Amino acid sequence: MSADSQASKGAVDHGALSDHYGAQATAMPTSMDAFWMPFTANKQFKATPRLMASASGMFYKSVDGREVLDATAGLWCCNAGHSRPRIVEAVKKQIETLDFAPNFSMSSPLPFVLAERLAELAPGNLNHVFYANSGSEAVDSALKMAIAYHRARGEGQRTRLIGREKGYHGVGFGGISVGGLPNNRKWFGPLLPGVDHLRHTLDIARNAFSKGLPEHGLELAEDLERLVALHDASTIAAVIIEPISGSAGVVIPPDGYLKRIREICTRHGIVLIFDEVITGFGRVGDAFGAQRFGVIPDMITAAKGITNGCVPMGAVLVSDDIHDAFTQGPDHVIDLFHGYTYSGHPLACAAAIATLDTYAEENLFDKAIELGDYWQQGIHSLQGLPNVIDIRNYGLIGAIELSPRAGAPGTRGYDAFTHAFHQGNLLTRVTGDVIALSPPLILEKTHIDRIFETLADTLRATS
Ligand code: PLP
Repeated sequence: MSADSQASKGAVDHGALSDHYGAQATAMPTSMDAFWMPFTANKQFKATPRLMASASGMFYKSVDGREVLDATAGLWCCNAGHSRPRIVEAVKKQIETLDFAPNFSMSSPLPFVLAERLAELAPGNLNHVFYANSGSEAVDSALKMAIAYHRARGEGQRTRLIGREKGYHGVGFGGISVGGLPNNRKWFGPLLPGVDHLRHTLDIARNAFSKGLPEHGLELAEDLERLVALHDASTIAAVIIEPISGSAGVVIPPDGYLKRIREICTRHGIVLIFDEVITGFGRVGDAFGAQRFGVIPDMITAAKGITNGCVPMGAVLVSDDIHDAFTQGPDHVIDLFHGYTYSGHPLACAAAIATLDTYAEENLFDKAIELGDYWQQGIHSLQGLPNVIDIRNYGLIGAIELSPRAGAPGTRGYDAFTHAFHQGNLLTRVTGDVIALSPPLILEKTHIDRIFETLADTLRATS
């Protein structure tokens, strides 16, 4: 083959290619067999699929051409709304310039630029950033760091990890071990040894229909003292909790609970990790729940809103004390024997920097405060509708809990979810019989009205 014909064979018609991929990305696939969907009843979904073709701002467009209002920010991801131009532009530019560079004893500029930005946003002395690719990886990284930190400072017997019932920390073995959702644990054997759990704080009997932080339950923080008494502080490496749990159906901390947990951890030298995968990046009216609740942990795990969901990324924000414990050795020794091929991927870093710029330019971290009362009023207007047994809210987070049908838990919630989607063109998220809401922070009062009007119709229609 001549050099010319080889070159012409390799020539790519970009227009035709993009038409080809564009058409595939917006049409109903010819087969749905091969994709084993995560956390999904595959047979049920594939019988009545819900596929999104495009998205912009507050709305998705489905492959059957319907405009669907997104009341979930994807899956707690797209806090700045969908397909924001600045973020799209940054990702496009990056992929054209540098597609990939490793970060093991090599790097590129953006991971450093982004880390400085994240450290500025983080509370207290959480001045160091370790990159992962998801919330699950961030959590497993943080748990490993906590154990290794104690070893590095000569307390290698501190290996026990404490999570909480109903906690969700992703799906790695570390995350499901400290997590407290039975379905995520029971299939997978004995999990990590040396893990214990605090009691959860959901108390519908005492706190139903609380507006904001529930009044009752501060005493549940003392459960940590019970575990310290049982195991002895000298064996405990870390406590990990979500300031607000999402996957358990939105559990809001009782007033003062997080502060009390912090005090107990400090007293006993236990590392406190806040898993802020869903509460980070403006969801509760500040950069992180830590600032909004006035409680500074030793590490924060983040993901999702870090890149507005458009490129996978997770991160652990780490205090000076923990970081510095790893850097006492000679210069040639690796600090931490942990990392991922894609830690600090340039595309994710470009997306994250543009995302942080968008949050700042549009003051999006203030939105949950500005709209908080209107949101609270809207969601609590659903009290009294059929089967509603609790409503919980904080920042731009909301949950409507329905009474389960006898012998068929979860079916009432699922019916409400599919009805809202197919009849009301509204995307919500359902876990069990809890409808969870976490809209993009760019929403306006008219969107709030529409979300709760649609849900009111849905609850009446599916009772
Ligand atoms: N931690 C929390 C608090 C989460 O809510 C999630 C996901 O929803 C995760 C960890 C896991 O994140 P990922 O699905 O990106 O692994």
